Amino acid sequence: MESSTPLSPLDTFQDRRREQKQELLEQRVARLEQLLAVGRRLNSTLEMPALLLQVVSAAREITGADAASILLLENEETLRFAASCGPDDALLKVTEVPINNSLAGWVVRNAETAVVEDATSDLRVYVIDEALTTRSIVAVPLLFGEEVIGVLESLTHHEHHRFSPQDIEALETLAGIAAVAVQNARLFQQSDWIAEIVHEIRTPLTSIMTYAELLATHQLEQDSRQKFVEIINHEANRVNGLIGQFLDLARLESGRVIMKRAPFSLPEIVRLSLDLVRPQAQERKMELQAEIPADLPEVRGDAERIQQVLLNFLSNAVKYADPGDQITVLCHLEPEEIVVTVTDTGPGIAQEHHQGLFEKFSRVPGSEERAEGSGLGLNIARQIVQAHKGRIWVESELGKGSSFAFSLPLSPE
Ligand code: ADP
Repeated sequence: MESSTPLSPLDTFQDRRREQKQELLEQRVARLEQLLAVGRRLNSTLEMPALLLQVVSAAREITGADAASILLLENEETLRFAASCGPDDALLKVTEVPINNSLAGWVVRNAETAVVEDATSDLRVYVIDEALTTRSIVAVPLLFGEEVIGVLESLTHHEHHRFSPQDIEALETLAGIAAVAVQNARLFQQSDWIAEIVHEIRTPLTSIMTYAELLATHQLEQDSRQKFVEIINHEANRVNGLIGQFLDLARLESGRVIMKRAPFSLPEIVRLSLDLVRPQAQERKMELQAEIPADLPEVRGDAERIQQVLLNFLSNAVKYADPGDQITVLCHLEPEEIVVTVTDTGPGIAQEHHQGLFEKFSRVPGSEERAEGSGLGLNIARQIVQAHKGRIWVESELGKGSSFAFSLPLSPE
């Protein structure tokens, strides 16, 4: 609508200013509402992977970035990519980031936001992948009280992109909300984990108590007595094994376990592990095989811990494969690592169960009918392999057997 009196240039200028202010205010309110909605969503998510994905996608959206990622501090020395979203998968391939030599490390050490306008020339930026064309980065600390628990980053691939002060402020607010949500999820995991421990121990304990009471209160035939004593013995061993696994996990998770870095012979470890599972394998009429090249280079690490990983793979193969099946241990050399694979011709695992297999208490449905287990072995194995900077994975198809593998980096020398 046209006004009857023409506006003076000053009026137009002031109107324009007012409009701009109004626009800014509206943008701010919209962002705040967006953040509040994200906060509500985050607070109702207690499952860590889902939570972290929500955080990174909110970070990307709120700052209009190409990609976002979150890194969490595992202990004083280890900062690890925990989730990313964006076109570059390369980010997550490198899971560990050096604290002393990376932008995220700088943010942790200084408990301060870092803004990088040209990632190619900022010395703090750790070159994750040469193919990565990151240009600008905002990295904000995840602060829980005064403690930095991780870093949230938004990045773009455009040259001369500038994150605005509003983008930075919004990312800092999001990081605050995310830090609380991450700590909540951690606490929940912790309490959940204690509930699981109690549950796992209670089952065999109930059976011990029941049979002990039967033995104490009934006149039983020698055969029954013998059978009940065997059950008690078996269940007591199970409790003992579970407690051993719990303690081992708690120690590994606390970061207090120091892995040795001594040279050791992988063929020797394979031989010892095969000897240990041979009696059970023979009982189940399974065939054990090993294929190890004669000229494997030296590996360094904690031989006992690596044997523990191999034994977990082997004893699972013996437990879950069918009588008469074949189990093969294979070692082979890749350019930068040695890969050890345990393959069985057993029942296999459907694709949908692969992802969670290395999480605590994870068991493939139906496994309890095949063999006793706690679902902790593979989680322990993963922690050991990661502490050696190696990788661990499974390849399996239902009905076609499984291959569990881990790798160890070759010593640089
Ligand atoms: P546990 O054997 O004590 O349950 P693990 O963590 O070692 O715990 O293994 C987790 C689950 O993975 C097992 O419960 C089983 O469901 C599955 N699994 C492991 N190895 C195999 C295998 N070789 N074949 C089939 N399923 C397996």
